[in-house]
Amino acid sequence: MVESEHDAALEDTDRLHGRSALVDNVKAAVALAGAVRSTLGPRGLDKMLVEEGGSVTVTNDGVTVLQTAKVEHPTARLLISTSSSQDRAARDGTTTTVILTAEMLQNALELVRSGVHPSIIMNGYQIALEEALAEMEHMARAPQSEAERRAVVETSLAGKIDSSLTAHLTGLALEAADALAGEEGDADLERLRVKRLMVRDGTARESEIVHGMVLAKSRMDMATPANSDGGRIAIVDGDLENAKLELEASIEVTSTGALRSFHERARERLQEQVELLKSLDVDLLVVRDGVAEEAATMLTNAGITAYRRFEREDLERLARITGSTMVRDARRIKKEDVGTYSSRSEQTFSGVKHTRIDGSEGGAMTVLIRGTSPAVREEAQRAFDDALGVAHRLSGDSQLLPGGGASQIHLARHLRAFAPSQSGREQLAIEAYAAALEIVPRTLAENSGLDPIDAILTLSAAQVADSENGPWIGLDVMSGEKTRMDEAGIIDPLFVVRHALSGATEAANSVLRIDDVLWAKQDAQTPDWQSEMDQD
Ligand code: ADP
Ligand code: MG
Repeated sequence: MVESEHDAALEDTDRLHGRSALVDNVKAAVALAGAVRSTLGPRGLDKMLVEEGGSVTVTNDGVTVLQTAKVEHPTARLLISTSSSQDRAARDGTTTTVILTAEMLQNALELVRSGVHPSIIMNGYQIALEEALAEMEHMARAPQSEAERRAVVETSLAGKIDSSLTAHLTGLALEAADALAGEEGDADLERLRVKRLMVRDGTARESEIVHGMVLAKSRMDMATPANSDGGRIAIVDGDLENAKLELEASIEVTSTGALRSFHERARERLQEQVELLKSLDVDLLVVRDGVAEEAATMLTNAGITAYRRFEREDLERLARITGSTMVRDARRIKKEDVGTYSSRSEQTFSGVKHTRIDGSEGGAMTVLIRGTSPAVREEAQRAFDDALGVAHRLSGDSQLLPGGGASQIHLARHLRAFAPSQSGREQLAIEAYAAALEIVPRTLAENSGLDPIDAILTLSAAQVADSENGPWIGLDVMSGEKTRMDEAGIIDPLFVVRHALSGATEAANSVLRIDDVLWAKQDAQTPDWQSEMDQD
């Protein structure tokens, strides 16, 4: 298949042109989808990932599988980045995105083989996407109860973790999302604002949200009080160290007298900083870097309890809940930089002294992820992260769609009805697109041991027969029955389904646009599991 071209400019490249480029790219996409499709849905199987160093992860999560896999084919890489972008934007729907893209590509390849030009297909796919998005908005509705909101988050966790833990983590995720509602920030906001702390004591089901910051630190000087009912806090994004004596460079040390006066000045400077803090009524000082032992004594004498050495993110969260502003230089701290905290206490977690500081401004918190083994804690944390991602986004866009393949069955039928309104060969592309959507219910059925063709036919018929709630009839893979997805609590957020479809279409079209693949001669290969595909 690989034609080596020997023109001077392309000497060191292998070249795949036109049809063979497309065939090769589609093969790679299908191979990649083949690696994750068995994880789709709550009855999807787990994958055991063994990394080069030998560390093992067992996961049911498509994106985790893909990000860990060693994949070199550029098309496969493109699909992985599409699924990562789905993860960033929606925190769910990553497997769906990949299998949709592969199915769109496979159907496109069939059309190309029967003589339809890729540009017509791209055009038809784009038209189909827009029509599907419009219809999706039409189908979607707001949650009708708190139970329904829970169901959405629980659906996103289905199959990832055992069901009683799902319910618990869903509760925590919604609690955290509510506490963050209305906060503005970038796409990672919910991850930045919620500190995750793994705690050895207790079971995963005893994981909890603390509306304050829990930090693995104890105060510098045990002579200062361990607890407080609140007061004024200053946060220094720097240090409170002695100025460094740079021997050769700045000062000429000509006598021990000069050295002593240098130390004297450094000490005075520390004293001034402490005096400044005291004059601002600060009684709690949190410093990102070091605090000189000398300064610690001065602080204690001034009635200030001090903590040192933190991660910047922790200080940012602390600043938020206490309404303080971090200052780089303690000599420049101003009245308005000082915040207030409502309590401080010390507590032991995992055998280590921790300090909890609460504030009243909100906007950040700590989740204590408990569990008896590191593997359990990590799994619980991943599930919590996913649940929080969905719950948080749901506060901004609460519209819902039926899960269990119902949306895709309805959209496929809608697009088939819509296709004839379009001109010429685009119709064929729209029909191919409609068929590609059915990969979702088909795979869900397959993964639960049901016949995929029967499942699709039964669902379509049931949707048509029910003029009122038709589009909400889907497949509950736990019971194997077709049923109203809202009644079964199998509900997906609109933003997840929408982003998955847009991302998949965009990825498929960008592969269809490729007419020429130039391989630098460097051992690039199709994915490792390519052999599975060779029977094609
Ligand atoms: P993704 O990575 O795409 O989110 P998942 O493995 O999480 O993949 O599967 C998500 C799909 O599973 C969604 O289409 C969702 O509607 C569906 N799903 C979840 N629970 C059920 C269920 N009980 N019955 C049928 N489908 C379900
Ligand atoms: Mg999911």
